[in-house]
Amino acid sequence: MISCGKVQTNKEGKVDLFYVYLKCRECGSKFTKAGKYYYCNNYARTCSCTKHSTNRENLIKYIERELKAKHIKYDELNRQVLFEYIKDIAISENSVVKINYKSRK
Ligand SMILES: [Zn+2]
Repeated sequence: MISCGKVQTNKEGKVDLFYVYLKCRECGSKFTKAGKYYYCNNYARTCSCTKHSTNRENLIKYIERELKAKHIKYDELNRQVLFEYIKDIAISENSVVKINYKSRK
């Protein structure tokens, strides 16, 4: 169990594939990575948000399914694919994921 304010974040979280895209749907904060999980920054650091986390594996599965549903073709889910199609990925309480796509012309 992880308690808020005590989440140990790893340095590689900063360069993680999803790091820059994740945001908290409740407080708008960025997410921080701890092990295989991502937490709302405000929760992790100051306890000023609720505990919603998402795990990396589920997130990848979810994104791949969503992109497929949108008929977006790609060989491998990578930074380039995310950059091209995704504006941000909002995570709400109960870890519900909502992908916001970039508007395409
Ligand atoms: Zn939050």
